[in-house]
Amino acid sequence: QSVHAAEQTYTIGTDTTFSPFAFTNKKNQSVGIDIDLLDAIAKKEGFKIQWKQLGFDGAVQALQAKQIDGVAAGMSITPERQKTFLFSHPYYKSGTYMAVKDQHIKDLKDLRGKKVAVKTGTTAADYANSMKKKYGFRVVTFDSDDNMYQDVLTGNTVACFEDKPVLQYAIANGIKLHLAKDFKEPDAGTYGFAFQKSEGALVKKVNAGLKALKANGQYAKIVAKYVGNGS
Ligand code: GLN
Repeated sequence: QSVHAAEQTYTIGTDTTFSPFAFTNKKNQSVGIDIDLLDAIAKKEGFKIQWKQLGFDGAVQALQAKQIDGVAAGMSITPERQKTFLFSHPYYKSGTYMAVKDQHIKDLKDLRGKKVAVKTGTTAADYANSMKKKYGFRVVTFDSDDNMYQDVLTGNTVACFEDKPVLQYAIANGIKLHLAKDFKEPDAGTYGFAFQKSEGALVKKVNAGLKALKANGQYAKIVAKYVGNGS
């Protein structure tokens, strides 16, 4: 019997343009807070990860179809998703915000008769869809954040809805959008790593690893690498 049991490899789906949490770099590698965090957790807890760049909706669908073991992609923990998936403890606080190109559009009430952009399958898309009737706007969906931003920049849609730290990062990195001035944020949620319901033992390891990384300063270091000290 070998001293070192073979390390188990888990296949984890992730997003492609969801910076700073999960995105693909120029070398076609997955990078971001979520990637570094789960890689560090895996190292600590003795398992391996194979990353799959599926996009957010693609990753969630693949998890639901049991084609992959988990999703690490700034995935918000919601009661609805908890019915289907097992989430780790939360690792980041984040909620929906509205971004615009034209700063005269300040809030939901300025969207009447107009179109807005969202990303398929996200909590921000759910939010926009829940508001469209009351405020009289139409929702157009995209598969990636880059395509969503582009649609607002070209003027086809006048706003997009996405998680606030993701919008802030995009704006800080040259996307010519602005946070909508008078938008009142709905209650922020938290991100968790999602797994198959049957993976209780794995989720325990992930939680233990996350706790250790928070205690030893590695968590803060990873976050700071991508967003600086504030977030
Ligand atoms: N936090 C959002 C959600 O869970 C968006 C995640 C993402 O687009 N990667 O729906």
